[in-house]
Amino acid sequence: MTAELKLSESRDLTRIERIGAHSHIRGLGLDAALEPRVVSEGLVGQLSARKAAGVILQMIKEGRIAGRGVLIAGQPGTGKTAIAMGLAKSLGQETPFAMLSGSEIFSLEMSKTEALMQAFRRAIGVRIKEETEVIEGEVVEIQIDRPAVSGAASKTGKLTLKTTEMETIYDLGSKMIEALGKEKIQSGDVIAIDKASGKITKLGRSFSRSRDYDAMGPQTKFVQCPDGELQKRKEVVHCVTLHEIDVINSRTQGFLALFTGDTGEIRAEVREQIDTKVAEWREEGKAEIVPGVLFIDEVHMLDVECFSFLNRALENEMAPILVVATNRGHTQIRGTNYRSPHGIPFDLLDRLLIISTQPYTEDEIRKILDIRCQEEDVEMSEEAKVLLTKIGVETSLRYAIHLITSSALACQKRKGKVVEMEDISRVYQLFLDVKRSTQYLMEFQSQYMFNEVPAGVGNEE
Ligand code: ATP
Repeated sequence: MTAELKLSESRDLTRIERIGAHSHIRGLGLDAALEPRVVSEGLVGQLSARKAAGVILQMIKEGRIAGRGVLIAGQPGTGKTAIAMGLAKSLGQETPFAMLSGSEIFSLEMSKTEALMQAFRRAIGVRIKEETEVIEGEVVEIQIDRPAVSGAASKTGKLTLKTTEMETIYDLGSKMIEALGKEKIQSGDVIAIDKASGKITKLGRSFSRSRDYDAMGPQTKFVQCPDGELQKRKEVVHCVTLHEIDVINSRTQGFLALFTGDTGEIRAEVREQIDTKVAEWREEGKAEIVPGVLFIDEVHMLDVECFSFLNRALENEMAPILVVATNRGHTQIRGTNYRSPHGIPFDLLDRLLIISTQPYTEDEIRKILDIRCQEEDVEMSEEAKVLLTKIGVETSLRYAIHLITSSALACQKRKGKVVEMEDISRVYQLFLDVKRSTQYLMEFQSQYMFNEVPAGVGNEE
């Protein structure tokens, strides 16, 4: 019953992930010389922006860009977020990538700067190297007490291991007994025990015991426990983010807060202590800092306090690479009466490398729609695709992408297998795009609430 439940849960999860807005993006689609391929890894066109992102990627990988920033600017729906996602995917598992939208920092639970600080620290990785002691030796004897009622969980026993200098006796827990069974370990085997985790690995067999040696014959390859290498040290590397270390060490929170995301504010002293500790580890060669990427979408939603925080935070030697995106032109800087390009103050703009995205051609829109149809497992006839592309050109790429799912539902409802023009026109009539919706609003404005707001207010552009 539980197994069944789990199976269906995991199926649902996969489905949700698959139809995410950017789930078709798997990288930046560049070749070895960092030249963008026209269609690759889910990305289409936008060649110069992708090439620029590729250069940034290279700089990040070589550790040359810490403390700097990139601004991706362009009209709505031109793939700014898609390119940032492509960058994240190309960075690999170990480089942290934190993402937030400008509006997310206005929460009631914490101050704006605390939210930004947490995002910054989520984008800074720490590689901690830990040495664990491993004991190698030849198994002399294994004794396992079998309990009256069978069941590995309650088994206990002892293992006598002969290393060069001494015989070590281990009390075996049930986990170790399980490992012994898995590796089929018997006396005469040479094994390694990780002292911290209790993990047992079989390395070979020692035929120093005459009985085994006789049985195998003199021609058998001799595996001896090599002298001097009996006690080895093994390096284990953990990768965590500074934010994870903060949460685990903040007294009011537990590590469970990491899963709920309910971390609250973290005190400055906790962070100071952690920074000192990490600096110590770095000096001792136990830890390395991995500056990751912090992506802030809709950066024009930040206000002047946040911008000054960003300016200062970028100067920290551990700072991640800041990638921001906006679709605004010349507009007001939130919290001031000043206007500036993209609503970003000049001092911050000056630190940013700017990448701009261009509107798509009809052919590019068609290719993106093809990729999305594949991603959503929707079969669509050629005419329907032509119509959908036309709609994309007339309205927006996003609107056309939305119509894929809804037209597939319309098709399903009439028990069809392939989405046809009729399904597309049906959902086109059901759901308005921005242009038609605005027109409708203008026609029926007097019947809506709040229509008395004077023109120009709330319109920043
Ligand atoms: P906004 O300014 O409104 O935030 P944006 O520029 O961030 O828009 P995206 O969200 O990246 O736009 O793009 C809209 C949709 O189109 C997404 O589903 C995205 O994955 C897809 N898309 C955009 N550009 C491309 C592209 N070049 N290749 C493939 N898919 C793309």
